[in-house]
Amino acid sequence: MDLQKLESILSAEPKFRLKQAYEALFKNFIQSWQDVTVFSKPLRDRLEKEFPLSVNAKISKSIDGTMKGLVTLHDGRLIETVLMRHKDNRNTVCVSSQAGCPMGCAFCATGDMGFFRNLSAGEIVEQVLLFERILKPEEERVTNIVFMGMGEPLYNYAEVMKAVNILNKDVGIAARHISVSTCGIIKGILKLTDEPLQINLAISLHAPTNEMRDKIMPVNKSDPVELLLKTVGDYIKKTNRKVMIEYLLIGELNNSPETAKELADVLKRELGHLFVVNVIPYNPTGRFTPPSKESVNKFKDILEKNGVTVTQRYTFGQEVEGACGQLAIKGAKGVSKGRARDSR
Ligand code: SAH
Ligand code: SF4
Repeated sequence: MDLQKLESILSAEPKFRLKQAYEALFKNFIQSWQDVTVFSKPLRDRLEKEFPLSVNAKISKSIDGTMKGLVTLHDGRLIETVLMRHKDNRNTVCVSSQAGCPMGCAFCATGDMGFFRNLSAGEIVEQVLLFERILKPEEERVTNIVFMGMGEPLYNYAEVMKAVNILNKDVGIAARHISVSTCGIIKGILKLTDEPLQINLAISLHAPTNEMRDKIMPVNKSDPVELLLKTVGDYIKKTNRKVMIEYLLIGELNNSPETAKELADVLKRELGHLFVVNVIPYNPTGRFTPPSKESVNKFKDILEKNGVTVTQRYTFGQEVEGACGQLAIKGAKGVSKGRARDSR
């Protein structure tokens, strides 16, 4: 979906036509331009031909209600997007921001694929429209968005923010229900600090020291722990917003009781109180061992005893391989980190 194309088609029409088109797209979730009866037949036909609405997606569904959409983009690139259904009527879409990812984190299946290209704002929003259209007959809506699919959102900053604005202003999803997760791109966090929209920030920290983080996240070489946490601390001070620290627990790597204590200490020192730690047991991708249940509980326990608020991510959609870190297109191979274009 190329939103500039829509604007250019409608530029010859009176101004309110674009507003009507946006309403049809983002509020009524139309499947065909023929449903927009306020438009003349020739205009509907032209839009149908030049701005087709269908998203080319293959949907798989798991028993917990999670749906994964494998989307083929206009140039044949493939991305994945996931809908998670919560018991309290919330419906969260996990969107991709890039086809593949240039960051190369050792534990992540998307990282293993390498990087192909950034997604446009339209391609990001389209992932949400796909599920809005599926939920509409049930009279349900998408209520939350997390940028936790494929890619590093802060390496595609402009298009991600354009998409966030459309999702907030046009689709009507509250900013506090939109979360951007980053592996810790300092420049991007600095920009986000000055954004007027109150969206949530999640930081994939995964280790309290450079020594440990260097082993699993190549980004730590340019954006090391101490600078990252200082930047996040400043973000909290300036915005007064709570930040989520994501902590992937990998067996025998970063899940010892000593590491838990170290993590609690460094976070309290650098971030104060406005943060919560979300522990995520590693979803196996073949490289590391998942943590034992006991070590996860012990880790959480130590954080809590040290005054840190802890949540645990429930892993949705394991059967459809839609869980975090497991999004990878089989057989695809992009550019690896270093050669990838830096699009900050
Ligand atoms: N690139 C961004 C957002 C996408 S990844 C980021 O890294 O934050 C979304 C989340 O999934 C991140 O917290 C990431 O660390 C986590 N993740 C990656 N691989 C995983 C795995 N194998 N098991 C569990 N979580 C994983
Ligand atoms: Fe990219 Fe995030 Fe996966 Fe790292 S964890 S490779 S940043 S998608």
